[in-house]
Amino acid sequence: MTAKRLDGKQLAARLAVELAADVEEFTTATKVVPTLAAVLVGEDPASQVYVRHKERACKKAAMASRLDRLAKETTESELLTRVDQLNQDPQVHGILVQLPLPGQIDETRILDAIVPAKDVDAFHPENVGLLSQGRPRFLPCTPHGVQQILHHYDINISGKHVVVVGRSEIVGKPLSLMLVQRDSSMGPERANATVTICHSRTNDLASLTRQADVVVAAIGKPRFITAGMIRPGATVIDVGINRTDAGLVGDVDFEAVQEVAGAITPVPGGVGPLTIAMLMRNTLIAARLQSG
Ligand code: NAP
Repeated sequence: MTAKRLDGKQLAARLAVELAADVEEFTTATKVVPTLAAVLVGEDPASQVYVRHKERACKKAAMASRLDRLAKETTESELLTRVDQLNQDPQVHGILVQLPLPGQIDETRILDAIVPAKDVDAFHPENVGLLSQGRPRFLPCTPHGVQQILHHYDINISGKHVVVVGRSEIVGKPLSLMLVQRDSSMGPERANATVTICHSRTNDLASLTRQADVVVAAIGKPRFITAGMIRPGATVIDVGINRTDAGLVGDVDFEAVQEVAGAITPVPGGVGPLTIAMLMRNTLIAARLQSG
């Protein structure tokens, strides 16, 4: 059996067209151009690529983008000042501080300083709190991308066992919160899962993943999830992006797992493109919120 390939690139392209139409309608009605301000500290090559993709996506959707490039020596207080300026700027609707930040800066302090209404990454504790209570202001981008893939390919998770491997604040934890809710923005079939959250201290991980209808890998270890860890016919969503000598690979051993799974996302071309699409969607939501 070879698994169905869940194509995130194609889905993201379709969502980008829908977003561009929604932005045009919003801008025509309000004369406001949704604007995303990105702050990049230092010269991390992967971060530079991500920021470029985000700028390109803004352009495609007829949204505006701004990029602040700050030196890698920037202090925490300098960055806090910059964030505060963006918080106060009525022309800026969404603020994104590209992670990771250099070691001298406490990431949590910076993310907490972004005003929640402009927090399009949905990292602020107020937005995380709203999400956990099932009344999100913004859906976190990568988890929302995962949910969009499930929706597009009509994968029903209601009552199903989803095993999320990874408990980060960016992917594993918020995704688990979203999938366990009673409902989702895409209907109850994309929620109501029985969710098991796994991490590096989990005992006998494979025995848990083998029970799953859906496995989500958000670990950051190349090809970590092997064919023997997957129940035949299960859906496998690979969030991992690992740069190796062989190029970009996911957290799933794609070649082997596709022979066991029922459906699988590739890397690249799976969850990654949707993360950016969801960020763009959040920027429009932020502009709407701020335009009353
Ligand atoms: P992270 O903060 O490093 O978290 C990794 C998680 O994996 C942690 O919870 C860790 O457990 C768990 N883990 C590590 N080794 C494990 C093991 N042997 N068994 C079980 N769990 C283990 O990473 P992240 O930010 O969530 O990112 C995860 C991956 O997704 C990375 O490859 C990243 O590049 C990628 N990513 C992709 C997108 C996208 O747009 N597609 C967006 C964000 C991230 P502990 O908590 O116990 O340490």
